[in-house]
Amino acid sequence: MEQVKPVWRIPLADIDLGPEEEAAVLDVLRRRWLSMGETTAAFEADFAALTGAGHALAVTNCTAALHLAGMALGWGPGDEVIVPSLTFVATANAVRYTGATPIFADITGLDDFSLSAEDAARRITPRTRAIVVVHYAGYAADMPAIRALAERYGLDVVEDVAHAPGATLGGRALGTWGRIGCFSFFANKNMTTGEGGMITTDDDDVAGRLRLLRSHGMTSLTWDRHKGHAWSYDVVAPGYNYRLDEMRAAVGRVQLAKLPAANERRRALDALYRQLLPAATPELGLPYSETRGISACHLRPALLPVGASRTRFMDEMKAQGIQTSIHYPPVHTFSYYREQGRHTSLPLTETVGEREVTLPLHPGMTPGDVESVVAAVAEALDAAIVRPSVETTVTPA
Ligand SMILES: *Cc1c(COP(=O)(O)O)cnc(C)c1O
Repeated sequence: MEQVKPVWRIPLADIDLGPEEEAAVLDVLRRRWLSMGETTAAFEADFAALTGAGHALAVTNCTAALHLAGMALGWGPGDEVIVPSLTFVATANAVRYTGATPIFADITGLDDFSLSAEDAARRITPRTRAIVVVHYAGYAADMPAIRALAERYGLDVVEDVAHAPGATLGGRALGTWGRIGCFSFFANKNMTTGEGGMITTDDDDVAGRLRLLRSHGMTSLTWDRHKGHAWSYDVVAPGYNYRLDEMRAAVGRVQLAKLPAANERRRALDALYRQLLPAATPELGLPYSETRGISACHLRPALLPVGASRTRFMDEMKAQGIQTSIHYPPVHTFSYYREQGRHTSLPLTETVGEREVTLPLHPGMTPGDVESVVAAVAEALDAAIVRPSVETTVTPA
């Protein structure tokens, strides 16, 4: 089969799938056991080993992982869950699935786009149940501060680790700092199974609830056998079908094995961006100059200077065959969340929402590609900055 022809000279993200993934899928198809089998179990064991988590559960996608997290922690109508607005909408949508209300909090600053513990603290009420953090672009949020806050008020912490598989903070994997970690294996993430996700937790009770809810709320066969009811099962909650299939798990195992080297490659390319961009375009803001821990470098975000036209900038980049994107249009500004009647003001999130542009970053890029992007950025920014036209003021006689 021929690959789909690339549209972009340098795409924003790219996937690295080869003969190993093909062979792994073929092997599953030939063994004819397609769901919740030994490949999924092995993928979960590999993932638990990588993160050091007590439990890893493979799921349909990260959105399902976030939903299951909220259900396992007992969120429901009347509860409030603090979430960032500078994230993919699924972070907030998943809170809504449980009936709870997402309460948006601002980011830390223009160098650190993750949830501000200080702003989160201001939004805590007697109804608050939990805080969801997103490790934006692969960079660790300030987990010690978030955890201290959560402990003070008896809140749960859930990590949305969609951007940060393989990233660490203080030598500890992101996704294991909170009570539950939710990972994504969507096609544009650091590792992919097409659609797919993983939940991590160290809490045995939470793991048990997650396992039940992932599969219709049915008690497992193992459990049944243990109780001497191998011929039947019970349903103890109206659970979901959020399972991952064996083909995806097979791809996931190969992708996971490649992840450490792929992340290392991302960090090297990102370091090159940081080295070259300030000299080429001093006006461009480059967040995460100070980073906590080791980033998964999922994205390379940049901040356009005030007054630059982002549309013009992105059009100029497109004309050069370079794909750019925006992470993110703030969730609290979408119609649905605006209509929830909460007129939240998040000044830093809104500033980033207006000025952020994401540059291409993926392990398939060469240092030459980074140089090409940097050169294009300098030109595009020049075209995008609306400079006041030079006019001579004529004093009337
Ligand atoms: C991609 C993403 C998700 C959703 O992941 P899916 O696996 O596509 O459901 C959630 N949160 C963030 C921050 C993401 O980037």
